Amino acid sequence: MTIFNLGSINADLFYALPHLPKPGETLASTEYSRGLGGKGANMSVAAARAAARAVHIGAIGDDGRWALDRLTEYGVDTRHIVQVDVATGHALILVDQAGENSIVLYPGANQAITEIQLTAALSEATDADLFICQNETNAQRMAAEMASAKGMKVAYAAAPFDADAVQAILPLLDLLILNAVEAEQLSTATGTPITALPVRDIVVTLGADGCDWHNTDTAQTLHIPALPVTPVDTTGAGDTFTGYLLAGLDQGLSMAESLTRASKAAAIMVTRHGTADVIPDLKDVLDSGL
Ligand code: ADP
Repeated sequence: MTIFNLGSINADLFYALPHLPKPGETLASTEYSRGLGGKGANMSVAAARAAARAVHIGAIGDDGRWALDRLTEYGVDTRHIVQVDVATGHALILVDQAGENSIVLYPGANQAITEIQLTAALSEATDADLFICQNETNAQRMAAEMASAKGMKVAYAAAPFDADAVQAILPLLDLLILNAVEAEQLSTATGTPITALPVRDIVVTLGADGCDWHNTDTAQTLHIPALPVTPVDTTGAGDTFTGYLLAGLDQGLSMAESLTRASKAAAIMVTRHGTADVIPDLKDVLDSGL
């Protein structure tokens, strides 16, 4: 089976600076690095590294060829990533000596997904396949409708949080994944406890406290603790968790087994600096002893 992921592809551009610039100030950066990021790309890489077949649906500009190459290298099927006439999405990440940061996000090509592109990509899908999206492109609702109409299981990671976007997609979902802050925001926006939402499976990630999985059919909530590690960088933990969760489900593991594996992968991820480029593969996870 296959995971179809409609999602963002970003260049994460890191600049190390003596301090964050003040208005009007010009500062020389002491270090620069470029990483592959974007919640969508991270999740596709995580799913592929977890040994699932991951088809990424997305867009880049003519400056994004390297991102495509890296996704391919990590095992993602990139045939449905199109090149458009807008710059590739990127995040300008300024980091000072104390580790404080300022971020400028340019969505760019991620907002240029078309119906024709979605139709072409999802024409390859069957009702045995999974669909996932986040909230960083212009087309998640349209794509989720198409996927649902095909009988695919539809998953949604509600990040970055937007109350209207989540509520628009909610009726189409089989699986909703959010972190504790997003769960609180959604609960406030809907005036409903998260566990009363009309989605069969709801997973709330709780950082170092693990995660809760609520199944609406059984009205049961299962808590899965996080694994004990010393975190150095929590960037991409949630995306790694979600990619592994989907891969586990796609491979026929139960929800509890998939969540356990996802927790291990995310725990390893928080011990590494970086995003998509350092997501652990299945062997790392199975051999980790966690
Ligand atoms: P997000 O990155 O989306 O905010 P979380 O911070 O909730 O997501 O983290 C997602 C998952 O990553 C958690 O459910 C947990 O399994 C794992 N995780 C996050 N932080 C830690 C940590 N400090 N130690 C171990 N596991 C962690």
